[in-house]
Amino acid sequence: MYDVLIKNALTARRQPIEIALNGNKIAAVATQLVGATAQQVIDLHGATYVSAGWIDDHVHCDEQLTLYYDDPDEDGYKTGVTTVVDAGSTGADNIRDFYQRTRAKITNVYALINIGRTGILAQDELGDLSKIDRDALLAAHHELPDFILGIKARESHSVVVDNGIKPLLAARSYAALMGGLPVMVHVGAKPPELQDILQAMGPGDILTHAYNGKPNGMVAPDGTIHQFVYDAYDRGVIFDVGHGTDSFNFRTMSIARDHGLDPQSLSTDIYHRNREDGPVVNMATTMAKMLAVGYTLPEVIRMVTLAPAQNMHLLTKGRLRPGADADLTIFTVTAGEQPLTDANGNTRTGHAIITPRTTIVGGKVYDLEATHD
Ligand SMILES: [Zn+2]
Repeated sequence: MYDVLIKNALTARRQPIEIALNGNKIAAVATQLVGATAQQVIDLHGATYVSAGWIDDHVHCDEQLTLYYDDPDEDGYKTGVTTVVDAGSTGADNIRDFYQRTRAKITNVYALINIGRTGILAQDELGDLSKIDRDALLAAHHELPDFILGIKARESHSVVVDNGIKPLLAARSYAALMGGLPVMVHVGAKPPELQDILQAMGPGDILTHAYNGKPNGMVAPDGTIHQFVYDAYDRGVIFDVGHGTDSFNFRTMSIARDHGLDPQSLSTDIYHRNREDGPVVNMATTMAKMLAVGYTLPEVIRMVTLAPAQNMHLLTKGRLRPGADADLTIFTVTAGEQPLTDANGNTRTGHAIITPRTTIVGGKVYDLEATHD
């Protein structure tokens, strides 16, 4: 007798799958679990998908901040996302409070610690290098080793002002001291130049906002891709979408896809404003945009499950296998026209609408039908 049994579901590849859960772990996975019984049976009747719980590795969800903030559950389980990674909203000064606040949430919440000790209290958190404090950073990580998954360095002109890639270089050296954690780098307006940023990044570091439509982006004015972008990709720099208010462009994404520069992970950079007013809205809408660009459902699901789990070294998440965490997303994909808008106001029509129906976090089942129908 299992705790929860999901029967007659489909994988993203449209293969039959059944999953049994015990406590907060996946207990069994097979095309059919013959004779299995459970306290709670969810029968999907062969038309509904299940995947490992969706992971959004770039959100802003410290409710106590005033610039970029949100309720983690609004970005999380209510939209099919079982795990969110806050990307640098807080630094060594305030990450402990953020950790405490998020323990009561249903959604799994992790953090990338901002290389600047204040986090994002104002847009220019790295304009003053005295905010980069190695000892404070290491102390925070020492206290919260399971919560802090990496370091965030925002490398755009409004953030670093005249400091170029110095914050990134500091983040790289401190990440090594913290056991080889990834550094997530935000890019935008120059200086610093994208070329200088990418050349300072190593394998396993994550370039977020990779597919923005800004002049300091991966695509040259003539529509070709800069050689240094290929070089970084081939060296193992991880390309992450990080949609955000102004960092996802359909044309950039399409050109990149044509040239084999696929994103490893799909994240939203969501916070209350771009959730409520667009253009982000939620993870399902962001996934629909990737389908509209031409990615397949299995590719998109991988970008929000196994790939971000691997990038963030979350070894028990993102996988549908016995022993993995019982975090699952049950969703439908229906034919229908859906207008989709990128961060620059360009629109495409989606033809597949993704709707999360049930979120399972740590073995607990949350039915979303009421919020979606
Ligand atoms: Zn962000």
